[in-house]
Amino acid sequence: MDMIKRKKPRDIRMMKQAGRIASEALLAVEDKIAPGVSTHELDAAARETILKAGAYPAFLGYEGFPASICASINEEVVHGIPSKERVLKDGNIVGIDVGAVYKGYHGDNAKTYAVGNVKPQAARLLKTTRESLYCGIDALKPNAPLGAYSHAVQTRAESRGFSVVRVYAGHGIGKKLHEPPTVPNYGRPQDGPILRPGTILAVEPMINEGVPDVESLSDGWTVVTADRKLSAHFEHTVVLLSDGVEILTNWDQAL
Ligand code: MG
Repeated sequence: MDMIKRKKPRDIRMMKQAGRIASEALLAVEDKIAPGVSTHELDAAARETILKAGAYPAFLGYEGFPASICASINEEVVHGIPSKERVLKDGNIVGIDVGAVYKGYHGDNAKTYAVGNVKPQAARLLKTTRESLYCGIDALKPNAPLGAYSHAVQTRAESRGFSVVRVYAGHGIGKKLHEPPTVPNYGRPQDGPILRPGTILAVEPMINEGVPDVESLSDGWTVVTADRKLSAHFEHTVVLLSDGVEILTNWDQAL
């Protein structure tokens, strides 16, 4: 396995700035989410916020991705491409994923929103996915296995009757958007690498209403649930310190 890079204090300070900008971009999108708004408009709001902060949209051009955010509606799991033709409707859920690179350091975060009034089952999926992210973060401990996170996420999601997407995972993050280790959202608590202080991870449960299986659409990007039931996604960038975990993407204004 590739080495997990432990960040130095200076790197961690820079990662905090990148994380702050990424979460400001997400909150700028959040302000605009409403029925009648296109995902293209949401993309523009994120991009402007990131550029104004002196950073660059980390997803724009990444492996050829054509936009600054991923916007994934209803059965779309991740990697939905913003478009003028994709207009939010009352009752939709929409996952927004946005990354920023600031002076060579990356921040990455995501959140899934209810558009107008959603069905109780959709609201329950959003609540559970968000909770599973925080259960996972609470279980992360320095000098303990990564599996503690994975197991906690899976346990919360499945205990509420939902399923965990297996084929996509979180990741280490730093000077690259994706670094080792892979951060699965399922597994046994004793599995995975031991995480040392200075490790920075993008943790991102993707939780489905129905089956865990997914498919890719012919646009080459959009991932959908195999049964076309709903999917939700929440993500934070976090740093493990010697005395605990700090969240670097403060999109949760309740925190
Ligand atoms: Mg990510």
